[in-house]
Amino acid sequence: MDNPEDPAGAAPRRRPKPDVTAIGNRRLRPATLMMGHGYDPALSEGALKPPIFLTSTFVFESAAEGRRHFEGVTGRRPGGAEGLVYSRFNGPNQEILEDRLGVWEDAEDALSFSSGMSAIATLLLTFCQPGDMIVHSGPLYAATETLIARILGRLGIGWLDFPAGATEAEIAATLSAAKARGRVALIYLESPANPTNVLVDVEAVRAARTRLFGDAPPPIAIDNTFLGPLWQKPLAHGADLSVYSLTKYAGGHSDLVAGAIVGDGALVREVRMMRNTLGTITDPHTAWMLLRSLETLELRMERAGANAARVCAFLKDHPKVAHVGYLGFLEPGSRQADIYRRHCSGAGSTFSLYLKGGEAEAFRFLDSLVIAKLAVSLGGTETLASAPAAMTHLSVPEERKAALGISPNLVRISIGVEDPDDLVADFAQALDAI
Ligand SMILES: *Cc1c(COP(=O)(O)O)cnc(C)c1O
Repeated sequence: MDNPEDPAGAAPRRRPKPDVTAIGNRRLRPATLMMGHGYDPALSEGALKPPIFLTSTFVFESAAEGRRHFEGVTGRRPGGAEGLVYSRFNGPNQEILEDRLGVWEDAEDALSFSSGMSAIATLLLTFCQPGDMIVHSGPLYAATETLIARILGRLGIGWLDFPAGATEAEIAATLSAAKARGRVALIYLESPANPTNVLVDVEAVRAARTRLFGDAPPPIAIDNTFLGPLWQKPLAHGADLSVYSLTKYAGGHSDLVAGAIVGDGALVREVRMMRNTLGTITDPHTAWMLLRSLETLELRMERAGANAARVCAFLKDHPKVAHVGYLGFLEPGSRQADIYRRHCSGAGSTFSLYLKGGEAEAFRFLDSLVIAKLAVSLGGTETLASAPAAMTHLSVPEERKAALGISPNLVRISIGVEDPDDLVADFAQALDAI
């Protein structure tokens, strides 16, 4: 802005600062980069925090510049847009967010979306055409299963799945059965699977793909919402794209809905073209909220993880508890424990609690909690508890519920960042009240 005291504009302008991502040989860690990476206060009147850019369009400096931007946006010229054009394509808040999201998994590129489901839908529409096959791990988040089986099924796109814990041989068998039915367009994983918490062996999926597809392989995408980006980094284990519902741990305060895809630059470019067409980008206000959230991501997830370890240790041997499905309690020497050792650096804070009894016991327990709130979703600062059989998975057929271990005595819990002793006291009194 011009200085009114100095209409000639002679006052010194703020000088842009380089974006520091290393000191000497030391690469700065994500927790540090969340405070400034991708944003230069000099471009926004020195504001420490980025302003929220509420604008639908951006002014070109010249007609030739406008043409260059559109050549980039439409893919006529490789490399994408060199500047901002129109807010369905991108904006300053979203670009800063995308720079910072990419940092956690050392990704080449990143995209933000209006929800986890809009990220997944945009991904699937980018890579799949009628006659194609999707191979996925099972189970998946319920809305993702609906999208693949019912909605893409209507467009003539087929699918085959393998169980989340499958071996390389089982994965290869599913891939080759799919290959016999059509072009395999995408391998789509979710790990840990919701709500079973079973881990997928991403390295085995990568090895099976290499064996079957050689040098024209279908991309491997993985929903990393439950353990990412802190406790699991699938791009390092052979996935090409990591997909997020930012609504959960990344947003972390149960006050927004958003999604992301991070990973291989060339694949992200293809998804970006589809997002430009569909308009599934996140809005500037939500992007700003996420920048705020990412500053405390590591702190929040570490505290929630430590709290969950504490609560699960208390629940494990309680006389009213039948079983605790928590990644910290995998059987030593089991295949799941081996996948955990290779892929995960923490057990997360979302787990399954099986009470002795049935729905009546689960409901009495839920109704007795005073700190934990009775709500679906996960990854927020507050502890949440719900009964999947009666809530999120109510309409799932009985045999499938049984196969997934979704019994009436199951309580799903997402531990927050409260005081751990207060949480233990709450669970103790709710168990006593059953
Ligand atoms: C919540 C969730 C989604 C969907 O995300 P939204 O932000 O609600 O659209 C997808 N996958 C997993 C594993 C989730 O937990």
